[in-house]
Amino acid sequence: MSYLTYETFREEIIACKKCEWKGLGSELQIEEFHDSSFIIDYCCPKCGEHIGFTQPPMSSPKKS
Ligand SMILES: [Zn+2]
Repeated sequence: MSYLTYETFREEIIACKKCEWKGLGSELQIEEFHDSSFIIDYCCPKCGEHIGFTQPPMSSPKKS
C-alpha cells in the first residue's frame, strides 16, 4: 500500500507489514507533512514503518 484515499482510509483497517500492527487509518501517526505538495506521509504508530501517503481534498481545487 502506498497511496491512501483521504476520504476513506481513516475508516479502514490498515496493517503494518513490518510489525503486524493493525488499526484504523486514523490511528496512524503522521510522519511528515509536505507544505508544497500537500502530501501527508503516515507511518506505523508502533514501529514507525512508512505506511503510505495521502493528499487532503483541498490539494486539488476544482476549476469550473
Ligand atoms: Zn509497524
